[in-house]
Amino acid sequence: MAILVVGGAGYIGSHAARVLKRRGYEVIIYDNLSTGHMALAEGFELVVADISDSASLAKVLGRVDAVMHFAAHAYVGESVVNPRKYFQNNVLGGLTLLHAVLDSGVRKFIFSSTCAVYGIPARVPITEDTPRSPVNPYGITKLALEHALEAYNHAYGLRFVSFRYFNAAGADEDGRAGENHIPETHLIPSAFEAIRGERPSLEIYGDDYPTPDGTCIRDYIHVNDLAEAHVLGLEYLSQGNSAKLNLGTGRGYSVREIISTIESVTGQRVPTRISPRREGDPAELVADPRRAETLLRWRAKRSLEEIVATAWNWAQQNSAALKRT
Ligand code: UDP
Repeated sequence: MAILVVGGAGYIGSHAARVLKRRGYEVIIYDNLSTGHMALAEGFELVVADISDSASLAKVLGRVDAVMHFAAHAYVGESVVNPRKYFQNNVLGGLTLLHAVLDSGVRKFIFSSTCAVYGIPARVPITEDTPRSPVNPYGITKLALEHALEAYNHAYGLRFVSFRYFNAAGADEDGRAGENHIPETHLIPSAFEAIRGERPSLEIYGDDYPTPDGTCIRDYIHVNDLAEAHVLGLEYLSQGNSAKLNLGTGRGYSVREIISTIESVTGQRVPTRISPRREGDPAELVADPRRAETLLRWRAKRSLEEIVATAWNWAQQNSAALKRT
């Protein structure tokens, strides 16, 4: 079976592509390389084109059985100050991709959604039945695609899985793929930059939240646990199903707990500074992952220590080089 991995030169998409390949799938990566890295697509057939380019999409879609869509802008803060960029790419571009998929006859689609579709949930852990009420443009753009998928499923028989990721983190155990955002805003790689002196300190965004140590709690899930869920998602689609599924571990960690795990795994001190809260950050986001566990027979297997250790290994060996590609 051939899979088109759209955004496969990015962080999560490249891990999905690698897991698919290891499981024997034929993989074609489609990426405009705006934020992706050529090096992460090494060893794969790569089509360099944009998701708004219907002609390039039509050409490649004729050769695949299913599509995984990872190509989106994903900075919450940026989406607040530059929402046009997010609606343009994530909604207009995403719909162009979806329509090309419909026109091609492909009927299996896996979508990278986000826990940001829930906004500020009344209760944690968050089940899939929690009302969707995003509080920033990023979450709104992801929800728009979820709505389109539901309508197209109903009207046209397009089968889909919308995976609502919690906090993706960590790197491939083989050390050849990992996280490399420019600029880096995510907690774990930002802490590594502080350790290496590439930033003066790690800013802790708020220590006055109503949590046990005052810092925000998130559900950090290893990127290869996410990637493995995508492969099982394909099998689920092949059985004729569609679903919206949380992907998380069900266990939350505070920013301070993450920092102390980083210090114990790396043996290095993370210089920190308390900063104001970041706009749009809820105090606690933790998944209830039971629906994905039941329907896909999947479980997030990797621990927080493995997340930090694989990310550290990757950052030590590769990130400086990747920043230039
Ligand atoms: N965070 C922080 N300092 C940073 C980056 C993140 O304190 O430099 C916090 C952030 O407020 C949130 C958690 O770490 O509570 C995870 O943030 P990240 O940006 O990694 O992922 P997000 O939750 O925004 O998807």
